[in-house]
This record gives sequence, C-alpha cells and structure tokens, in this order.
Amino acid sequence: QILPHFAEGKVVKGFGRGSKELGIPTANFPENVVENLPKDLPGGVYYGWANVDNGEVLKMVLSIGWNPYYHNTKKSMETHVIHTFKEDFYGSTLKVIMLGYIRPMRDFSSLDELIGAINDDIQEAKEKLDLPENASYKQNNFLFDEI
Ligand code: ADP
Ligand code: MG
Repeated sequence: QILPHFAEGKVVKGFGRGSKELGIPTANFPENVVENLPKDLPGGVYYGWANVDNGEVLKMVLSIGWNPYYHNTKKSMETHVIHTFKEDFYGSTLKVIMLGYIRPMRDFSSLDELIGAINDDIQEAKEKLDLPENASYKQNNFLFDEI
C-alpha cells in the first residue's frame, strides 16, 4: 500500500514559477524528501493534511511532477496549504500526510484553465478530507511528534 504517505522536511525555495502570483503558492520540499517517495508512486495531484512547525493541521493539495529546471530529470514535490498565512514559511518544517490521488499532471492551454483545474482540486480535497476515514488522520501523532 503506497498511501497514506507521510513526509516531512524544511521548506525550500522553488523556481519562482509565479505560483504566488496565481494566488496558489506551493511550498517546495527539498530533494531528499522527494527521493524518499515510493518509487512506484504516480506523478500527479494528491490531497491530504499538512502542518507547519507542528502548528494547526490544515487541508492541502500536493503535486508531484517533473521539474523543468532540471530538464525533467528531477521530481519536484510542492504543497499548497489551503489556508491564508500571514507570512512566508521558508525554512520551517512542513509535514504532510498524503491520503488520496486526484489526477495526473497535465499541460494546460491557458492560465485560466490551470487556475480552474487547481480550484477544482482544492474543492475535491476539501470534500474528501471531511470523510471520516480521512478526517481521522488530522489527529495523527506524526503531525505532533517532536521535529
Ligand atoms: P517558490 O517558487 O519559492 O516555491 P511560490 O510562489 O510557490 O514560490 O511560494 C511558495 C512559498 O509561499 C512557500 O514556500 C511558503 O513560504 C509561502 N506560502 C504562503 N502561503 C502558502 C500556502 N497557503 N501554501 C504554501 N505555501 C505558502
Ligand atoms: Mg512553489
């Protein structure tokens, strides 16, 4: 069984693809965390729970894809936490529990289409995470264990 997948790491700078400008910032995990993904985990968009420095547990969507910066030889793993933060949290410890798969990665012909797809992902994540079998992970010890 690949899911749930538990991951934690310090948030690093991404490649400034302007996620924040789209209103959907994505906190990037460092290489070592990406390398610890199960080898047979499909790329695409996942939903689950997240917290920053053992703080409030929040809904998230997470994408796993091939990084154009490294000529698609390296995977990237980026989390959009469904929450409005007062400040950036680069260098903080992000923990995630990936619980379900939403869709494969794909190219979009326009920015509006991309933003629309992400908003659909967020909606699906919100609904799925309210199901009892997913909601129960909100209290998982992993999220509160010493960093
Ligand atoms: P980068 O290319 O450095 O990843 P982004 O535009 O994707 O830049 O912004 C990501 C950063 O925004 C995160 O590392 C984090 O510090 C901050 N941030 C603020 N709000 C959120 C959020 N709701 N989800 C994820 N990251 C957020
Ligand atoms: Mg990012």
